[in-house]
Amino acid sequence: MITLKGAEVSAKMKDQVLEMVASLGGYIPTAAIVRVGERPDDMSYEKGVMKKIAAFGMEAKSFAFPEDISEEDFKAEFQKINEDENIDGILMFMPLPKHMNGKVFESLIDPKKDLDGISPVNRAKVFAGEADGFAPCTAEAVIETLKAFEIPMTGKRAVVVGRSMVVGRPLSMLFLKENATVTVCHTKTKDLKAVCNEGEILVAAAGKAGMLDQDYVAEGAVVLDVGINVDENGKLCGDVKWEGLETKASAATPVPGGIGAVTTAVLCKHLAQAATRKKQK
Ligand code: NDP
Repeated sequence: MITLKGAEVSAKMKDQVLEMVASLGGYIPTAAIVRVGERPDDMSYEKGVMKKIAAFGMEAKSFAFPEDISEEDFKAEFQKINEDENIDGILMFMPLPKHMNGKVFESLIDPKKDLDGISPVNRAKVFAGEADGFAPCTAEAVIETLKAFEIPMTGKRAVVVGRSMVVGRPLSMLFLKENATVTVCHTKTKDLKAVCNEGEILVAAAGKAGMLDQDYVAEGAVVLDVGINVDENGKLCGDVKWEGLETKASAATPVPGGIGAVTTAVLCKHLAQAATRKKQK
């Protein structure tokens, strides 16, 4: 079984992004990382993203607001960032605190700066298979990983476990665009094991530690584990049990060190694309 390491995909994507940035004639794309509150997960992701953007030759500015900021005040601050011509892309941490309506901000974000594909415009573009929008980074990271390892998708049976707006649904659309035949599973799917066994490509995005073991995996399948969970010993783990996987899968992404690393690389690619599109206008 081949281990599909996220670092290898990220390194390839870094070369592409550096090339895109170099063709901007000295212009350095800048991202705004917008956070309300201090959730530890968000803060550690923010740190990782800032580091990656710098490593990919671009800039990132952090805009952090207190958890108790009113929706009205945050909206005013957000609009300033949204309209700032020196900001090429925005990553906003979701969900926003309970006293705010996240949907309002999803609609407010300038689709041209929407690095994680949360605006209704970008969602529609992903649905329509149009290439000039932005898909959610994690969903696109799955496709980038398959492409980087030259794993064909055309005509393949892809099974996706999870139907969230961040991963499962957009990913199923991206698979369609790559001419795969897609099945999307969820908590009401009957006989999940049998359905998973139909997948030549199996994506786990349920957010349940070790939920899928080798019995869910078809002989020779390629397994992409999107899940990021903490197991009973406090260790980071995916949705797929790694032990025994090598007896069935032909290739698989590890957790950690798999899709997560590619997700931030996709974010960097989106930032470079946003700046390139702005310049081409
Ligand atoms: P959600 O909780 O929003 O969605 C989970 C989906 O999985 C739902 O559609 C749910 O079905 C389905 N599901 C849950 N349990 C089962 C089950 N037992 N059988 C079948 N389907 C099931 O999670 P997200 O999509 O936001 O995230 C999924 C995972 O990916 C998480 O572990 C998250 O941490 C990780 N993640 C990783 C990222 C990365 O960069 N690598 C980025 C984003 C997320 P139903 O709709 O019926 O409830």
